[in-house]
Amino acid sequence: MAWFKKTRKPIASATAEKPSRVPEGLWVKCPGCTQLIYKNDLEQNVNVCPKCAHHFRITSAERLKALFDNGEYVEHFTNLTSTDPLQFTDTKPYRDRLQKTIQATGMNDACVVATGRMDDLDIVVAAMEYQFIGGSMGVVVGEKITRAIEMAIERRQPALVISSSGGARMMEGALSLMQMAKVSAALARLDRARLPFISILTDPTTGGVTASFAMLGDLNIAEPKALIGFAGPRVIEQTIRQKLPDGFQRSEFLLEHGMLDLIVDRRDMKAVLSRALRFMRAEPVRSEPQPVAVGALTGSADGRR
Ligand SMILES: [Zn+2]
Repeated sequence: MAWFKKTRKPIASATAEKPSRVPEGLWVKCPGCTQLIYKNDLEQNVNVCPKCAHHFRITSAERLKALFDNGEYVEHFTNLTSTDPLQFTDTKPYRDRLQKTIQATGMNDACVVATGRMDDLDIVVAAMEYQFIGGSMGVVVGEKITRAIEMAIERRQPALVISSSGGARMMEGALSLMQMAKVSAALARLDRARLPFISILTDPTTGGVTASFAMLGDLNIAEPKALIGFAGPRVIEQTIRQKLPDGFQRSEFLLEHGMLDLIVDRRDMKAVLSRALRFMRAEPVRSEPQPVAVGALTGSADGRR
């Protein structure tokens, strides 16, 4: 036996950790201004860089917490899961991918439906989760958003959808495309019931989500510098054989070209939303909690115009 042979294994490096959007550790380097930010400061600031206002991507839970009073809300339809109707396999079976994502995120699909109070206004919110297979819209996401809208109609409360999605979920094929029509039809019913719908577009909102409900809001509000589009820039460049302008498919470009109504900093989002809803005649709940059946909005209840 050689004298200098390594018999023990070298110390393993801790590289193969799961990826997270806000890096682990006490300090975070901002991709906007390359400054180091103390992680606590970042969290206090709803994950917006205090120096350059770069908006870090956040989870649906963090979003809902920031939006609702005292961070309190009730989740609905949590037990819905995809059944892999096409028994689809790409690089690996869809069923395995689902299983793994459910374990990693602790969620059953890429959407959370929540109800609660925002600045004393009763609201129904559906928030999409990008960590769950790119926030893709499959049957479950479509169903949950539809149910959220129906719940808003039933309770006569405003509906909000926070989009963060790569588009339709290709592993569910045409079934995922049908969700575009289903959600849009539910929104038409909400409109007939004269209830407001606010669409909040965050980084990124693309594909079938942009092509349906994300652009159907009475107000379409985006976060700064969010990527919003239908097809990706490379596909468009190849199709039209032209170089695309700088900042194409970012919130600011879209606002300038009339695709959006507002760009709102995440730190002001709650205040802007509640002001907008009050302008749309949502009525605050003044006294102690009341049963949900009491309408928070005025207007005709029969839903006909
Ligand atoms: Zn920064």
